[in-house]
Amino acid sequence: MEGPPRFECPLWCMLCRGGKAWLRQLCQGAGDVLRLPNSLLSAKLPQLCDIHQVPKVFQEDGITSGYRHPRSSALDCVLSSFQMTNETVNIWTHFLATWYFLWRFGMLWCSVDFVSESYNWPLLVYMLLICLYPFTSSCAHTFSTMSPEARHICFFFDYGAISLYSLGCAITYASYVMPNCWVNSWLHQHFVPFAVFNTLVCTGLSCYSRFLEMPFPRRSKILRTAAFVYPFIFDNIPLFHRLALCCEEDGCNPGEALSTHCCHLIFAFLTCFLFASHLPERLAPGRFDYIGHSHQLFHVCAVVGTHFQMEALLTDMTSRSAWMAANAAVPSLPGTVGALALGVALNLGIIAAFSAILLRAPRRRPASHDAKAEPSPELKEQ
Ligand SMILES: [Zn+2]
Repeated sequence: MEGPPRFECPLWCMLCRGGKAWLRQLCQGAGDVLRLPNSLLSAKLPQLCDIHQVPKVFQEDGITSGYRHPRSSALDCVLSSFQMTNETVNIWTHFLATWYFLWRFGMLWCSVDFVSESYNWPLLVYMLLICLYPFTSSCAHTFSTMSPEARHICFFFDYGAISLYSLGCAITYASYVMPNCWVNSWLHQHFVPFAVFNTLVCTGLSCYSRFLEMPFPRRSKILRTAAFVYPFIFDNIPLFHRLALCCEEDGCNPGEALSTHCCHLIFAFLTCFLFASHLPERLAPGRFDYIGHSHQLFHVCAVVGTHFQMEALLTDMTSRSAWMAANAAVPSLPGTVGALALGVALNLGIIAAFSAILLRAPRRRPASHDAKAEPSPELKEQ
């Protein structure tokens, strides 16, 4: 008797074996993926340092503890955002703000024609930039402890994004905030080109100020503050004029938008004050290391101020659209998206130039990169 027919099919067997191997690989891969969160959770949270354990370039006035390792890996930097350090609130305040502004942008996208209606292009540029600056800041604070060089480059990008945000303000102020009596004036026509020039000055001075931080800390702080205050004052000239001289019959709707503009100005002043004063931690060093120090309050005030500015701009944009359409030239592509593209290119060029100086000329580095700050398993007292 013949036994049961044997099913001999080399191709089938090969496929079957290949399939088994493939299935085994797939299961192993899935297992690795499933194990990944566990390995992340079991990873040791980075060790924190006191002020004396980090190089001078990382030290902040009035903050004595909660510093991350000055040679953290990228993974440690990301993990540290889930650990309470003196940077955690800085990271999250601007990360959450990014999502808030993205959400507002998304809602506007549903109701405003940003593509074919040129009157809305300035708002498009502004919304992009108010999402960009908190996101860049959040990334800068997250990865600033990878090395002294990384710290400087992270904050070069942070300054560049703030500088571009001021350009976005100028583009919207020229289109929606300019007082009626200044529309079509010489200042109005040259407002955006001046603002593009201002981004060069702002980014250039603020990046340069990092090179003065160690030898001349006071001069560095004054220069950096001036670098940001100068474009802010320029951008707000039309608003200051409206606040000082505008009247009801001028058609500026003083009650409607100007009160919200005033809220923005109050928070902008607070932002500047906190940035320059280092209060409250200067009065009680060590008390506000984790929560409540000036940079965290500075972030919060900047975001709240930007929120009021956005609301005021939206009010002006809506209430003045008919008057602007009848009396002013419609915003052009070169004057809005083109100015943004030029600003981005110029800022990236400045950041690249300062980064190249930083990386190629160790002697001219902006801060003392203490040799003792080289990576070591245990941080030594310096
Ligand atoms: Zn910051």
